[in-house]
Amino acid sequence: MPVKIVRDDITKMEVDAIVNAANNALTGGGGVDGAIHRAAGPELLAECRTLGGCETGSAKRTGAYRLPCKYVIHTVGPVWRGGYYGERELLESCYRTSLELALEAECESIAFPLISSGVYGYPKAQALQVAMETVSRFLLEHDIMVYIVIFDRSSYQISEKLFADITAYIDQRYVDEHTDGSVEQARRHRIARESMESGPLSAEYVPFAAAAAPPPLSVAHTLEETLRHLDAGFSQTLLRLIDQSGMSDAQCYKKANIDRKLFSKIRSNPNYRPSKPTVLAFAVALELSLEETEALLRRAGFALSHASKFDIIVEYFIMQSCYDVFTINEALFAFDQPLLGG
Ligand code: ADP
Repeated sequence: MPVKIVRDDITKMEVDAIVNAANNALTGGGGVDGAIHRAAGPELLAECRTLGGCETGSAKRTGAYRLPCKYVIHTVGPVWRGGYYGERELLESCYRTSLELALEAECESIAFPLISSGVYGYPKAQALQVAMETVSRFLLEHDIMVYIVIFDRSSYQISEKLFADITAYIDQRYVDEHTDGSVEQARRHRIARESMESGPLSAEYVPFAAAAAPPPLSVAHTLEETLRHLDAGFSQTLLRLIDQSGMSDAQCYKKANIDRKLFSKIRSNPNYRPSKPTVLAFAVALELSLEETEALLRRAGFALSHASKFDIIVEYFIMQSCYDVFTINEALFAFDQPLLGG
């Protein structure tokens, strides 16, 4: 199941379990801990007092009392001391042990705050990276819907360099599209020229990109004939690409951050109409080139547009050959854009 970054107050999340960034004594405190105890009521503190505290990197589960979830999982994140005292391993362990406790209680969904990123001082961009990496690794082996809950804008950061690079990339493309469009035009001309001129680069690559082009007018000049030449639909194309990639279906939809149920729908319905973020999530999981991504989008009736920041950001990562959906989603979230998969 997917991991989703959302902006919310964790005490409002209607999931099976929420995670509390607690302290070793489990006696309540400030920040998210205080918010959870206030919303749950005094019974939560009473139960916490019976647990005998909790070690850093570990987790304990309680009831949720007046909260809209079933359980609270209390985990104790490391205090940041420069990164030389096993902080990363301890933080990873917080996510892993919390997820294990949730599965043990048969939870189907869980929401995390960004543990340690408040008064415990873990650098926010790194705290987010540890959260995403640990959770996505766990989800390769287990099925549970995970939400990373971001409370306030300032607690969410991707690396400064990545943010600056993407901003520059957006500025260049976005502005071009709205002024003389020269870079965009050159890019499209290049793609068109290459697809006309190119000999076979590889057995899989060319047939897919070439097959996505409409049949020549001289061949299909009536509507009836045109319809006979219709391309394979999105589902069929996707399944073929997965086979060619050597990945199993599950490996692919997990890498795409796509829910198993959604994948089953796509698989069983040859006429399935996916959303654009779903198509792009699969393009990224399959590590398609920009040209192949555009071809796959066309199969679903979409195109990449330089009038859309979402499209430009995904394009940025494809151009960098960065095919990690979770990293791309961190960036999309930072730019207030919809996320891939999920
Ligand atoms: P820690 O001591 O582990 O650093 P904090 O509570 O100080 O824990 O902060 C952890 C993160 O929780 C911070 O990023 C903070 O912005 C966030 N946070 C605070 N209140 C809430 C809330 N109600 N819902 C979700 N996240 C919250």
